[in-house]
Amino acid sequence: MLYAGIDLGGTNIKAALVTAEGEILCEASRPTCLPRPSGEICADIAGLLDELADRAGCRGQIAALGIGCPGSVDEAGTVVYANNLRWKNFPAGTVLQNMTGLPVAVGNDANVAALGEALFGCARGAQSAVIVTLGTGVGGGIIINGRMVTGFNGAASELGHMVVVPGGVPCTCGQRGCLEMYASATGLVRMTREAMDRHPHSLLHTLSAGRGVDGRLAFAAADRGDQAAREVVDTYLQTLALGLSNLINILFPEVIGLSGGVANQGESLLEPLRRLVEPAVYGHELGGPRTRLVLCTLGYRAGVIGAAMLAKQKMESGT
Ligand SMILES: [Zn+2]
Repeated sequence: MLYAGIDLGGTNIKAALVTAEGEILCEASRPTCLPRPSGEICADIAGLLDELADRAGCRGQIAALGIGCPGSVDEAGTVVYANNLRWKNFPAGTVLQNMTGLPVAVGNDANVAALGEALFGCARGAQSAVIVTLGTGVGGGIIINGRMVTGFNGAASELGHMVVVPGGVPCTCGQRGCLEMYASATGLVRMTREAMDRHPHSLLHTLSAGRGVDGRLAFAAADRGDQAAREVVDTYLQTLALGLSNLINILFPEVIGLSGGVANQGESLLEPLRRLVEPAVYGHELGGPRTRLVLCTLGYRAGVIGAAMLAKQKMESGT
């Protein structure tokens, strides 16, 4: 049996046909072209499904459709609120079920991508995993025993809104000092600009000439011994390490996987993070197995694979 996975993003709708073992048979995408009516977007999803079924020559073998969608999604597959799609209480699951004739499972896109990584990416074979995405914001998902942790209302796993600096920088959510304000690429760029204002002779100015300020700049200047950049990177690492150690102390996941633009720093990010996280983990002095801190491996494909696996889980649970 095959499962169709859709990653519905603000820019593109990505689709794939996936085997029960998490292998992608074929994939396709279309631009989301926002803003436009929900019915048109759903028709495009159904169209992508047809296209994939024709290309793979497997019409009739698709057992179910799964969708990762931005925003909060309830158990019934209703998108309670998705800001960039302008969907409010939109019954995406029911609409797509009627259009395609397939059972449809809908989940939050970050949770669904975390499911893909947990089952077939960086945490393959692990009992539990937390995936943390360090992109424009900080998002992610918690997977325990192969299932997404969604909370009673579908709003769980908002990892980026864990407060790591009481009274800190105001966040878009209304709180202050959220992890997202420090550990996202956006937060890193903000802290880099602030450091440049405070330190007019910093190497940050020289290195940013011609390329602007991005999430790599502070790491690059710190590597060359610039003190102002070092302070930015240290703040970045300390707030992220606090967030990760909080997650470990609550959940003790087998794996924490990092994805998103900042994670491209690779070992120069992971190695100091491991050093900072270790002493903050409860019972660390006793030794024993530790949560593995690794990089995610599936890239954008985590979304479509996770969506397909959500569909598979829905079929298996008979709901
Ligand atoms: Zn927040």
